[in-house]
Amino acid sequence: MGIVTLVVAALLGSAYVLGRSLVPDPPQRQATGVTSNADGPYYADQPSGDEPGEPPSASSSAGPTEAGQDGTGQKGAGQDTGGERLFGAHATTGTPRVALTFDDGPDPRYTPQVLATLREFDVKATFCVVGENAQDHPDLIQAIVADGHSLCNHSWHHDVTLGTRSAETIRTDLLRTNDAIRAAVPGAPIVWYRQPGGAWTLPVVSVAQQLGMTPLHWSVDPSDWQVPGASKITAAVVTQVEPGSVVLMHDAGGDRQGTVDALRQILSNLTERFELEALPTDPT
Ligand SMILES: [Zn+2]
Repeated sequence: MGIVTLVVAALLGSAYVLGRSLVPDPPQRQATGVTSNADGPYYADQPSGDEPGEPPSASSSAGPTEAGQDGTGQKGAGQDTGGERLFGAHATTGTPRVALTFDDGPDPRYTPQVLATLREFDVKATFCVVGENAQDHPDLIQAIVADGHSLCNHSWHHDVTLGTRSAETIRTDLLRTNDAIRAAVPGAPIVWYRQPGGAWTLPVVSVAQQLGMTPLHWSVDPSDWQVPGASKITAAVVTQVEPGSVVLMHDAGGDRQGTVDALRQILSNLTERFELEALPTDPT
């Protein structure tokens, strides 16, 4: 793990220096595909990880960034990141209500199960969808919207280093994602953007805002992408949620059955204690 961290740190450092030159690096992608460490479950199944450019970034960022993501999620948005690394991204709802967010989908294996469970409890949530997954599964985007949930742009192919690219590259990526979503649901409001890995930068925050989207982070992270099992996911969420929490979960990007199984218990608990909401589509 130490070595991985060092390598990652070096890669991230290079990323800032070299900018987009970090992007294509097939060998690392291979490593990501076969690795059994924490990166594996997160990206192994993720269709978006197939891009030549994505995996190295995913590989380099999934480890440390996602790890930081966990620390962030478990102890509040500011802990590990010092707060200012969020660059103003919202980490709470700003009200006593609690928001559940589901990232990286849609995925035909898990998204329908998540939707069915939410429907069972009459709870609305927010789906942070990946553009190419939206393009591949327009029916699921339609199902999400039809059920009254709100949408959040989660980039075209989950590029964790997107924030280190040029503003124009970022802008193209986010617009392409919105286009894919709106191809499925014309006119769908998309007023939230969540940076993959929570790897916020000033440019990515700025571009998202210029495009009318509010940067969305989170405050509770059960690390379900590490596949800890339904009981641990449930325990983490129900013990950490407080008024205003934004909960990060995943309905794609790996084996998410644990998340799906945990959701019923989570909803059973949270609906007794909080009002749950889909993040509004008209934030002001
Ligand atoms: Zn994600």
